[in-house]
Amino acid sequence: MELGLRNRVAVVCAASQGLGLAVAVGFAREGAHVVICSRDSRKLAEAGKQVRAAAAEGARVVAVTADLTKAAHIKKLFRSALREFGRIDVLVTNAGGPPVGAFPDLDDRTWQRGIDLNLMSTIRCIREVLPVMQKRRWGRIINITSFAAKQPVDDLVISSTVRPGILGLSKVLANRYTREGILINSVAPGFILTARQQEIGSVRAKAAGTTVEKYIEKMGEGIPAGRFGTPEELANVIVFLGSERASYISGTTVNVDGGLMKGII
Ligand code: NAD
Repeated sequence: MELGLRNRVAVVCAASQGLGLAVAVGFAREGAHVVICSRDSRKLAEAGKQVRAAAAEGARVVAVTADLTKAAHIKKLFRSALREFGRIDVLVTNAGGPPVGAFPDLDDRTWQRGIDLNLMSTIRCIREVLPVMQKRRWGRIINITSFAAKQPVDDLVISSTVRPGILGLSKVLANRYTREGILINSVAPGFILTARQQEIGSVRAKAAGTTVEKYIEKMGEGIPAGRFGTPEELANVIVFLGSERASYISGTTVNVDGGLMKGII
């Protein structure tokens, strides 16, 4: 299937590693120009090299250092993207995972960090691109959330509280902007093997008196697919949702979880 992404411009947030990096590689492979960001310039430059190495001929890659908890950095990210390409067709909102912890362990500062990192960054990024996409009457916005948005997790209280807000926002915006050609969807990853899963795994493995490797193996066995997913498996879905071919999908959330979630919706 030809995805029609050649020469489109995709901004992929938090793309120095993990899911964001895999998504950036996916878009560049399809011939889209890609703008990536994350906080750490050195890691971001390395990621930029990886994305460039995978890119189809003619696809350009621009890396912008930005801390997504800072409104001014987000503005700078989109200014840079527009200066470079003059348009933005696809936005993938993403950030690091919010702090892990059960409710009694979380103080106001920790909550605020999670809210700024995951919810406010999504709001601010979308606010920047909507007017740009409205001008061309074409756009794709895909929010990376979590299965915790639909199936809350006891020790991921911040994630379980903040992510449903993103699904609500996504739906409100899809109701309003789909008729202008801007399609807004979310993906809910289950267990995809990245540094974030290693981090959560090490906290849980320590509490259970086991190793991260054993924890990951056991968790994998409990998923209908029998294993964790790969970042590329998640990226494939996002690249499709960002493409010309996903032209009748808006306001939905796609689970990419190997069958992890047990509910119907
Ligand atoms: P990761 O930790 O491997 O990568 C996170 C990325 O975010 C890195 O590039 C990091 O530099 C960047 N980042 C962190 N804080 C930032 C900030 N303030 N400003 C800019 N960039 C920042 O995580 P991942 O596994 O790729 O997960 C990405 C998102 O998806 C997270 O929010 C995570 O909670 C969520 N998620 C992941 C999984 C999974 O299985 N991996 C499952 C559900 C949800």
